[in-house]
Amino acid sequence: MTALRSYVSGAWHTPPDEGAPVYDAVTGEQVARVSSTGVDFAAALAYGRRQGAELRRLTFHQRAALLKALGSHLREHRDELYALSARAGATKGDSWIDVDGGIGTLLSYSSKGRRELPNATTLVEGEPEVLSRGGTFAGRHLLTPLHGVAVQINAFNFPIWGPLEKFAPAFVAGVPSLIKPASQTAYLTARLVELIVESGILPEGSVQLVCGDVGDLFEHLTEQDLVGFTGSATTARRLRTHPAVVERAVRFNAEADSLNCSILGPDGDVELYAAQLVTEMTAKTGQKCTAIRRAFVPRERLAEVTEAVRARLEQVVVGAPLVEGVTMGPLVSLRQREEVRAAVKALGGEVLFGDLDQVRVEGADAQAGAFMSPILLAGDPDRAEPHEIEAFGPVSTLMPYESAEQVVDYAARGRGSLVGSIVTEDLGFAREVVLGLAPWHGRLLVLDRTDAKESTGHGSPLPVLVHGGPGRAGGGEELGGVRAVKHHMQRTALQGSPDVLTAVTGVWTPGARRAEDVHPFRKSLAELRVGDTVTAGPRQVTDEDVAHFAEFTGDTFYAHTDEAAAAANPLFGGIVAHGYLVVSFAAGLFVAPEPGPVLANYGLDNLRFLTPVKPGDELTVTLTAKQISPRENADYGEVRWDTDVTNQNGESVAKYDVLTLVAKEAR
Ligand code: NAP
Repeated sequence: MTALRSYVSGAWHTPPDEGAPVYDAVTGEQVARVSSTGVDFAAALAYGRRQGAELRRLTFHQRAALLKALGSHLREHRDELYALSARAGATKGDSWIDVDGGIGTLLSYSSKGRRELPNATTLVEGEPEVLSRGGTFAGRHLLTPLHGVAVQINAFNFPIWGPLEKFAPAFVAGVPSLIKPASQTAYLTARLVELIVESGILPEGSVQLVCGDVGDLFEHLTEQDLVGFTGSATTARRLRTHPAVVERAVRFNAEADSLNCSILGPDGDVELYAAQLVTEMTAKTGQKCTAIRRAFVPRERLAEVTEAVRARLEQVVVGAPLVEGVTMGPLVSLRQREEVRAAVKALGGEVLFGDLDQVRVEGADAQAGAFMSPILLAGDPDRAEPHEIEAFGPVSTLMPYESAEQVVDYAARGRGSLVGSIVTEDLGFAREVVLGLAPWHGRLLVLDRTDAKESTGHGSPLPVLVHGGPGRAGGGEELGGVRAVKHHMQRTALQGSPDVLTAVTGVWTPGARRAEDVHPFRKSLAELRVGDTVTAGPRQVTDEDVAHFAEFTGDTFYAHTDEAAAAANPLFGGIVAHGYLVVSFAAGLFVAPEPGPVLANYGLDNLRFLTPVKPGDELTVTLTAKQISPRENADYGEVRWDTDVTNQNGESVAKYDVLTLVAKEAR
């Protein structure tokens, strides 16, 4: 058997040596060999950086569309990935988390990229900051993709989801990835990367793969590269203190192990609690960084919970993952089982369920595969071990607590976790415990009878929410929607005149030049430029207008209708026009009524009424094209218009962004 190939510098590399063996978790047969001998790491990084230029030429929307195509392509190969995954011990349910979860993450980032990012190659963040009295000097935050490679080191337990959840935000940002899977399951990631490369969907160089150890890769990291690591706290510590990482301040994100807790409230539903605990103990055979390791229950409910959990653990069927009825497969390897057994011994405590040395196995040779029984331990929360030792298998420790304050203290002894859950119907308890736990957790789930049915569960990181945790959990943050994309970009505070800010960012900044010729609503997306403006007005607001608007809409709030009451209002001191009347009049002023390239108004953003409008005031509106974002697969795009409504004294009475859809070509 030849060792797995790596994909570096645009070609498949076959190692010249045999490499180290990897074994099937179920049968113990050799399933692959792994070696990175002969990989030129410096060249691979340099190649990735060069190819990054290609990727950066694409817009966020173009990259997002490629992710979608890739997700669909991988979906066609699910069955193959599921079959391979079973060799690592994964049941169908486990593979669903890994394979479908990974594809789902690609699709989620594709959708986020198209909806929340502009069709551009750079990003501006927040509103401009005016830095001078005269308005000639302003600042705003500009985000550009780093010019390096995102080196992604993954743990063995999620060979598909792990690489994909790191790759997706890097790709949307415009940064190429170099994926290094854990050796024990590298054959799955290798097949994934083969599928990606064979598809030809991504620009060449977007993804590289190194199977085997990383050799001198870290020596060649530069200031523009990033490292995304998932694995044990020990490896994380070693890598983040690598001299190259330290000296060159390489952006380093770590997702490490953590002793996640689940807390049953004094009134919480025991069945919900027990069901979730058993799911977390057995899904992926407990080899999940988010699994529940510490189960806290009120002391007086300990016996009740023990029985409920035991009853559910009795139902667990251990065996070959593809055999009908099996609900929990083996651990990934015999070595991993030895590590889990050693950790259970070190944890100590009475065994409430399970047997460390024996287990009934369905459909496989119990001696050959890495099978083990789920183990429920009784723990003393005042001892250090349950808060320090991670048994990375189907193992959890049940512990009593006396009060909300005490359980918060116990939870914090884990010194930082990825996730915690609280099962309670009591909102006061939920609030107290959540606020106590939050500084120690990256994610918190409150489970009750209302959300239980639809909840995605304790163990599932979601692409739209932050994944990661403080302290022992690695101190990193992954996912969380667009925030993970931004992690791969440099945020620069750009200072200059409004014209400079507009020219650089492509987003019109107040104070910048405006062009007023043809009405901008008569221009197609091809003709329209940022800064194109129409000024319309004035129009006087009369008493009759206000009274008519009140009657017509039914908005007869006293400030618009009752002279005496309005006079007593400390903000108005008399009748004022409705804010929506002002907005409606503004629309009436700036509209170009005949059919043309503007197809629809789909909303307003950031509407603020700044100065009251009184009958007799005269309104003028200035509408300026602020941002133009053509859609990739449609014959129109979005235009955001800066809108400023002023009165006869030049004071702004309302400011907002009008959002429209505009045809790409003249109609
Ligand atoms: P690990 O031994 O720390 O390995 C993790 C990764 O680091 C593997 O790809 C490994 O490659 C690589 N690695 C090891 N030593 C290295 C070195 N000196 N230089 C560069 N790379 C090195 O962890 P694991 O056993 O695979 O995974 C289990 C652990 O990961 C558990 O503790 C679990 O809690 C944690 N985990 C955390 C998360 C999370 O999101 N926070 C998710 C999953 C797992 P080789 O396999 O080739 O050695």
